Amino acid sequence: EYKIAIVGAGQLARMMALAGIPMGFSFSFLCESTDDASPVNHLGHLVQTDYSKLPAEEIYQLLGKPDVITVEKEDLDTEFLKALTEFCPVHPNPDAVGVSQNRKSEKSFAESLGFKVAPWAATDSVEAMAKAGEKLGWPVIIKRCSTGYDGKGQWRVSSFEEAKPVVEKAGPDENLIAESMIAFDKEVSMIAARDRHGNVMHYSLTENVHKNGILHYSISPARNLSSNVIEQAQTIATAMLEKLDYIGVLTIEFFLKGEELLINEIAPRVHNSGHWTQIGCNTSQFLNHIRAISGQFVAPAPNKGYSAMVNLLGETPSEQQMRDSELQVHWYNKSVKPGRKVGHININDTELSKVESKLKQTLEAIYGDS
Ligand code: ATP
Ligand code: MG
Ligand code: MG
Repeated sequence: EYKIAIVGAGQLARMMALAGIPMGFSFSFLCESTDDASPVNHLGHLVQTDYSKLPAEEIYQLLGKPDVITVEKEDLDTEFLKALTEFCPVHPNPDAVGVSQNRKSEKSFAESLGFKVAPWAATDSVEAMAKAGEKLGWPVIIKRCSTGYDGKGQWRVSSFEEAKPVVEKAGPDENLIAESMIAFDKEVSMIAARDRHGNVMHYSLTENVHKNGILHYSISPARNLSSNVIEQAQTIATAMLEKLDYIGVLTIEFFLKGEELLINEIAPRVHNSGHWTQIGCNTSQFLNHIRAISGQFVAPAPNKGYSAMVNLLGETPSEQQMRDSELQVHWYNKSVKPGRKVGHININDTELSKVESKLKQTLEAIYGDS
């Protein structure tokens, strides 16, 4: 029996396990005592404890001596992950997790490979903020370098007067950067995977629409892209996977302006913008991640037509949606709170226009918008 342990017990852990169980893998999950582990109920052995205080060997034992350990989030102590590598492989490797958990290191990494990121400057002091404003021009987005997600830990400011209190309040120990506001045509993401044999696969680029910093819906393949943009994104993903000696699924978020791709951020894991692969490909991002980390080959995953995904943010699907055979509803087994990611709905069709109209109808029904 091949055992996979996942650090984290949220919906990404849930969907990785749901992809791996049919392959005969068994799962265990590690989370903090304050985490909500309901998404992984009944899916494997749960270790819920404040693990940062425990020796790695004890954690390895508690997790049932797994064959491999993976992660569902980047906000983890890399020293803790490194200590676990004494007992079994950790994929993606802790250094790769480390690069992507801090905005400065991920931007420097992308730039070191010759790729473009949104123009940025460190703003650890009020003086640095003033210089950053001169360099970038106003408005800017100030971002916390680590622990931010879903647009949390970001401040949009249009002048030095507005920026100053943000930097002062953060204090000298808090790492901040400022980024130019990009007037992008669209946001796209690349989900790619690399296995232990060095094979790389890419999913089609996905078009993402955010609302209040949170992913609202996605469409894949992204519409109206030139082959040049697609090739650029694949080249960037392959270079990053190889440079990081990365095993598993890696996600890269981009701003697209004209023919230019600017890297926004990278995530060392399966990603919300890849949930459509559950309906749109024979091998989902979750299954390819499991295949990669367990020593199998990643499978190429050509698109079955067009797909879309709508996030359920604090919303429960209606009876009608549950009955609709054209909608694939995923529910994470979490309690519903305003704005909380509690599920998603996947849509697929051979015709783009049908996916677009179904998407519009679903967005209207759930959010009253389109
Ligand atoms: P995630 O949940 O994807 O990890 P996050 O909190 O790390 O999100 P970002 O991806 O940096 O945040 O930003 C969230 C969203 O805010 C982006 O997807 C984009 O829509 C918008 N945004 C962020 N930075 C910029 C920018 N420099 N210019 C324009 N829009 C931006
Ligand atoms: Mg992020
Ligand atoms: Mg993001």
